[in-house]
Amino acid sequence: MAARPTFPAGLALDAHKQQACGTPIVELPLPPQVVLALDQGTGYSAEPVVTVGEAVAAGTLVAHAGHPYASAVHASLAGIVVAIETREAAVPSGRSVCIVIDGNASNRIDDSVRPVADLAALSPDELVQRLRDAGIAGLGGAGFPTATKLAYARNLGAHTLVLNGAECEPWICCDDALMRSAADDVVLGALILRRAASAERCVIAIEDDKPAAIAAVTSAIERLRDEALTLAVVPAVYPQGAERQLITAVVGVEVPAGGLPADAGVVCQNVATAAAVAHWATRGEPMLSRVVTVTGSGVEHPGNVRAPIGAPLAALIAASGGYRDTPLRLIAGGSMTGRALPSDEVGLTKSMNCIFVATRDDIGSRLEAVEVPCIRCGDCAGVCPAGLLPQQLLRAAHADAHDTLRQLGLSDCIDCGLCDYVCPSQILLADRFRDARRRLQEAAAMAQKAADARERHGLRKRRQQEAATAEQQTFESVRDRARRPDDDSAGDSN
Ligand code: SF4
Ligand code: SF4
Repeated sequence: MAARPTFPAGLALDAHKQQACGTPIVELPLPPQVVLALDQGTGYSAEPVVTVGEAVAAGTLVAHAGHPYASAVHASLAGIVVAIETREAAVPSGRSVCIVIDGNASNRIDDSVRPVADLAALSPDELVQRLRDAGIAGLGGAGFPTATKLAYARNLGAHTLVLNGAECEPWICCDDALMRSAADDVVLGALILRRAASAERCVIAIEDDKPAAIAAVTSAIERLRDEALTLAVVPAVYPQGAERQLITAVVGVEVPAGGLPADAGVVCQNVATAAAVAHWATRGEPMLSRVVTVTGSGVEHPGNVRAPIGAPLAALIAASGGYRDTPLRLIAGGSMTGRALPSDEVGLTKSMNCIFVATRDDIGSRLEAVEVPCIRCGDCAGVCPAGLLPQQLLRAAHADAHDTLRQLGLSDCIDCGLCDYVCPSQILLADRFRDARRRLQEAAAMAQKAADARERHGLRKRRQQEAATAEQQTFESVRDRARRPDDDSAGDSN
């Protein structure tokens, strides 16, 4: 189908979705153990509120979100806490403190898990707080706490909630499967999220290569008959599902450079997050599970699996028929923006939308590519959805020229990997930009540290000067009194 481009540049990619999308969602049987990472993908960790040896039920809070970028973690399995320790984890840093729970087969549900009876009476602020308590986080891949995003959007008076059902990354189809099987949950969740954000309207955006999902969501919207809710069918162009690009496509506004969607009056949430919000509202369930695509040529039966958060990835792969051929790499996410996983023993996180069991056929050509110098063809600039000049960014990254990197808008790079994809010189541009961003952040952190140290030094000097002045004044006043003994004795005699 000819697609009308709705944001600058981008590219229609081979989707590879048919491998996993043909079968219904499989429910993973409860695993004997779950490993719950307290960093669920944002780099910020929740704080444990249980101890080793403690019995927990499904839904018991095990880690509290003390930071706005961390999400509360709940036991996804009834059993005993057997360890709280740092382990390899499916997060960008590769490691996280984890709470390990051995199941006791009781299937006991925590008393706090019950339908939200007072949903209609909750104010937006109360709704946001309840979603925070329930550990609801973005299921589209970032894992950012939903409550924090909503609160920020409310403060800035966001008018539109965009529900992201674009799912543009190749290989991944868990959102598509969810929209087809649970469209009512998606739409109910959309209404709750709209109210929590105090937004006037909600647009559910779905790419035009998902006709069954479009039909299911259309029917669900018709059943609910809420005029604030509309559906936007967008072209299947990568990276249509990136927040900024989707907002430009369906709302027609640009998120300012260096800003957030709320700065343009919009808040964006994923369709799976909306379904999780509906689960919480109708069953009182905190975020205990998610649907994840298990795909790639290295797995026997690619498909979509609903699994408890913390379930070992090996259990999900086994539920998909196990390994086939020789997997080259295990990747969290799709082929464009995914990240290599340390092993299949790590636990499923809230932010993991895909386990890509990649073989040489799937990714070998990119892994084995030999970089040659840039030939200045300009192809990378032609596809960049952020309107950047990757070739110039690359030169600045090589030179570690921080000011130039900032001027060229490195912070607006959305890490989509399209520049790599088209580069005839096989240069891994996105990797270089990720490293450059990290170096910029480190330099900014160092500069901040130096400024803090200077301020502390200045304060200490001022305190020392004040103390010295006070000491001098005391000395002078004692000395003055000592020089007037007669005056004092005259006073005494009165
Ligand atoms: S990775 Fe960054 S620079 Fe490359 S195409 Fe995507 S947004 Fe542009
Ligand atoms: S696509 Fe590759 S070779 Fe072409 S200008 Fe960009 S970096 Fe250079």
